[in-house]
Amino acid sequence: METRIIDGAALARRTRAALTERATALTARGRQPGLAAVQVGDDPASKVYVRTKMRVCAEVGIYSEHIELPAATTEAELLGRIRALNADPRIHGILVQLPLPKHIGSDRVLEAVAPEKDVDGFHPENVGRLAIGAPRFVPCTPAGIMEMLAATGIALDGRDAVIVGRSNIVGKPMAMLLLHQGATVTICHSRTRELGDHTRRADIVVAAVGRPQLLGADMVKPGAVVIDVGINRLPDGKLVGDVAFDAVLGKASHVTPVPGGVGPMTVTMLMANTVRAAELRDA
Ligand code: NAD
Repeated sequence: METRIIDGAALARRTRAALTERATALTARGRQPGLAAVQVGDDPASKVYVRTKMRVCAEVGIYSEHIELPAATTEAELLGRIRALNADPRIHGILVQLPLPKHIGSDRVLEAVAPEKDVDGFHPENVGRLAIGAPRFVPCTPAGIMEMLAATGIALDGRDAVIVGRSNIVGKPMAMLLLHQGATVTICHSRTRELGDHTRRADIVVAAVGRPQLLGADMVKPGAVVIDVGINRLPDGKLVGDVAFDAVLGKASHVTPVPGGVGPMTVTMLMANTVRAAELRDA
């Protein structure tokens, strides 16, 4: 079987072009969308992620603020900054880059973000809205994956979907989105026995674990759609996903590459949520 590679980078470019038009229309009415990214400490990976987000904001025409706070920032200080951003009319979206230093309670911080500015979709109100099928802001990675699946024209209704990973930012919201589209969803995780028995049944597999090439060709059903969320740096510096990409070529019907798959769409959905937040305020 010829495997189609789902080009996340190309879809991200098309999606960003449409978002640029919407951002431009808002700016023309004096309501330029604005995003604030709050980073505590100097985790190098977080720095790279936030810089990428700021760069894409500029590309789409979103005003952005990168708020860098020292690692010693107290929880009370951070909550104070978030309250100020909640009240700032230039800012429509607020993201708190995770992980936070250990002395800060992530849950309390995420709950402090005003739900109508929570463009990461991590506030309990937005998590609950997604669970009941009335989403406002959907977490960016699973939202981007749904766009990629939609772009391929693959029907989800009645399909068996297996998600590997149960995190709040990827696995769980992914399960909700696929469930709402009529898929029969299984979530596997670190305690799952015989992972392959589950993944081999799947019409759609989403791997969100963070283990290089955990999913080999023997774990994938012929003709399955394989979505690789993992980002893993090998000792030689090479970036790979959770799927043995070369091994599933010829077996899967579709696969996402790493890099150039889920990553570019994740950042793009953050822009989409921010533009939407500004439109909702403008309405
Ligand atoms: P996480 O560490 O919060 O969760 C990992 C999950 O994998 C856990 O639920 C755990 O139970 C499960 N797991 C661990 N070992 C397992 C095993 N052997 N078998 C089955 N399940 C196992 O991670 P996360 O934040 O969800 O991220 C997962 C991966 O996706 C990471 O590599 C991360 O860098 C990447 N990621 C990529 C993007 C993107 O935009 N492409 C976005 C978010 C996360």
